[in-house]
Formats: sequence, structure tokens, C-alpha cells
Amino acid sequence: MVNYDTVLIRFGELSTKGKNRKDFIQRLYRNIQYILKNIEGLEYRKTHDRIYIKLNGADSEKVKEKLQKVFGISSFSFTEKVDSDIDAISETCLRIAKESDKKTFKMIAKRHDKSFPMKSDAINRTCAGNILQNTEITVDVHNPELEIRVEVHQNETYITSEKIPGAGGFPVGINGRVLLLLSGGIDSPVAAYELMKRGLQVEAVHYASPPYTSENARQKVLDLAAMVSEYQRDMKVHIINFTDLQLQIYKTAGDPYAVTLMRRMMFRLAEEVAKKNNCLAIATGESIGQVASQTLESMVCINDVIRIPVIRPLVCFDKLEIINLATKIGTYETSILPYEDCCTIFDPKNPVTKPSIEKAEFYENQFDYASLIKDALEKQEVVRVFPQKDEEDFL
Ligand code: ATP
Ligand code: MG
Repeated sequence: MVNYDTVLIRFGELSTKGKNRKDFIQRLYRNIQYILKNIEGLEYRKTHDRIYIKLNGADSEKVKEKLQKVFGISSFSFTEKVDSDIDAISETCLRIAKESDKKTFKMIAKRHDKSFPMKSDAINRTCAGNILQNTEITVDVHNPELEIRVEVHQNETYITSEKIPGAGGFPVGINGRVLLLLSGGIDSPVAAYELMKRGLQVEAVHYASPPYTSENARQKVLDLAAMVSEYQRDMKVHIINFTDLQLQIYKTAGDPYAVTLMRRMMFRLAEEVAKKNNCLAIATGESIGQVASQTLESMVCINDVIRIPVIRPLVCFDKLEIINLATKIGTYETSILPYEDCCTIFDPKNPVTKPSIEKAEFYENQFDYASLIKDALEKQEVVRVFPQKDEEDFL
């Protein structure tokens, strides 16, 4: 294992966003500092196209694990910083080759500062020669086990051997705020991840139907929220009591239209919560055709009751793709815990797959849903959750 002293962070997609670039870098800089806040001794520096972190002996594995969760980073490398001096550069390349345990290598030098007296080719040849003379390792330009990259800047040169892929996307928060309908299922936590990846700050609303849904089900949702909040610091979760609305819906509409009506109420409530909390859109974990309420006809009928845009990040994902992502972000095991949520308890036997707006309105006009909505909003509970390990920092 090579001991590096600096992390070099590359931005990727950010670099293409001309006028907002400064904001992007600033936001990313803050997000990185935040996620690494518990690691002592780090020194940060940013330039127009890179962020550098000096490790000062900090655990590089820990830093690596955290950085891989920061959206807006296209890739990063652990590097050794030396003076822009060919002897210093060559010595460090040799040390990296020696410490690497690899059998073949390739040199990739790049001059960011063209005033450096040697061209890239000459740098490559000098460093490679030194390594060949002093080690058993051989050159393989097509398929090397070790790539030694040399980036020459005016005063300093960064030497690195591994490019670690970042999470991609945009720094969380840069593209505004959305309100996600968060259930205890597999899909909506993955939707949260996808939204955050595109730079959106996610706030959540959850509908609970006590006593039909248990304390365990509620806790499961908060746990899932805490898990995904790791990608964006923390998360505000609005918990809304849905019991009265749900009971009234079943009494009025009966089985086939119950889910359609429930979801229309969920959207109405969400629109109100979003407006009050400066969220410009709501979001769901819906995927086209997955269940009766997610046919295109259902979506049209449900969407009809609100004006706020609805973002559905998973709309074209297969279930298997969603499960794979849930596994990757670590929410799957929690999502499949068998606690009842409000939809599984009042599980209708014959939900309509092609509901009509007229019929939905006909049922809704038979009870005073507006006052039930008002009541539910007034009694909402707001909980702020944090990534589990960080909780003690805020107490
Ligand atoms: P999930 O796995 O996310 O629960 P699902 O396949 O079970 O999704 P539905 O139950 O039809 O599908 O829910 C579709 C979407 O509606 C969810 O992804 C979520 O955004 C929202 N939703 C469903 N139930 C609730 C709830 N109790 N509270 C908040 N949002 C909910
Ligand atoms: Mg569900």
C-alpha cells in the first residue's frame, strides 16, 4: 500500500456549467467538508477545476469510502505532491512503483504548465527509465497493472496511480428542493437517491395510518430516511396521519376506487406540504405499470388533482434495476422488513387499472375531504433525521 499525502478531486459534469460554476464548486466544497467533518487533520484547498485535500496522516480508506458518496465528484485520486522538479518527480514515481507490488506499468505525464522545461514524452521516458533500472517491474503500454499519472502544474506536481470513480451527478442542494413521498417500500428510498444525485435537496412526507400501521412501520421509514440522508447531510420528514381519510375513502368508494382516491389525497396533501416548505416539485418512487395505481391511466387520474410538477425518477426502471440500486445504497434489507404500511393493510382485491376522473370526483364529492386534509396537515409531525453514525454530533 502506497502512502499518499493528498487527495485530488475532479468534478466532471460541473465543469460544463459555465456561469454557475462557482456556485457548484463552492457547494461541492462545503458538502465534501461536511461529510469528512469527523476526520481530523485534513486541509482543504480549491482551484478553478480541482479540490485538494491534504491528509496529514488521516486514514485514506475512510476518506475514500466517504468521498464515494459525494455527488458532484466525477473521480478522485490519492496523490503525492512534489515540487515541479524532474528529480523529485522521478524519485516519487520510483517509490510508487516499488511500493505497489505490481508487475507492469505505464507512465502518463501531462503538463498543465507549458513552461515546464520538459515535454510530456520526455518526462515519461525519464521516470520510466528510472523505474526500469531500479526495479523488476516492466512496461506495458496497452494493459498495465499500474498507471502512474504525473500532472505538472507551475509550482507543484501531483503524482497518482489510481483513479477512483466518484458518484457523479451534481452537488446536493444546487438544483433546489423537492418533497418526496416516502413509503417503507423498496422504491421510494431509491428515488431519494436518484433525486439527490441530480443535485436536489430532498424532504420527505410519509402517510401513516395508526393503529392499522405499527410503530415499527413508522420507525422503518425514519430509518430509511436516515440511511439516504447520508447523501445530503440530514432530512426533514413530515409524518401525516392518514387514518381518517383512509377510513372515509373505504366507506365511500369501496374496493375498486379506494387506491385511486387514497393516492389523490396523498398528492393533495403533498402539494400543500411542498408549498409551505419551499419545495418546487413533489416526487414519488412510481414506475410505470408496476401496480394498478401506476398505469399511465392511473397516473393521469391521480395527477389531475394537483398543479405542482411530479418527478418520478424511477418511472422507466425495471424492478430488478431498482432492487440492485437499493442493495447498492444499503436500503434493501430494511425495505423488505415485513411491517405493514397503509397500502398493504387496506389491500383492495380489485383495484381499477383505468380509473376515470369523473368517477373519482363523484366519490370524493360525497364527503368533506377538504376538512379532513386540513385536519391532517394541522396535526402533522415533523422529524429531522441524520445519518446514523453522525447523530451524536447534533445532540
Ligand atoms: P415503494 O416500494 O416505494 O413503497 P410501491 O411499489 O410499494 O413503492 P406504491 O405503494 O403504489 O408502490 O407507492 C407508489 C409511491 O407512492 C411510492 O414510491 C411512494 O412514493 C408513494 N407512497 C406510497 N405509500 C406511501 C406512504 N404511506 N407514505 C408516503 N408515500 C407513499
Ligand atoms: Mg409501497
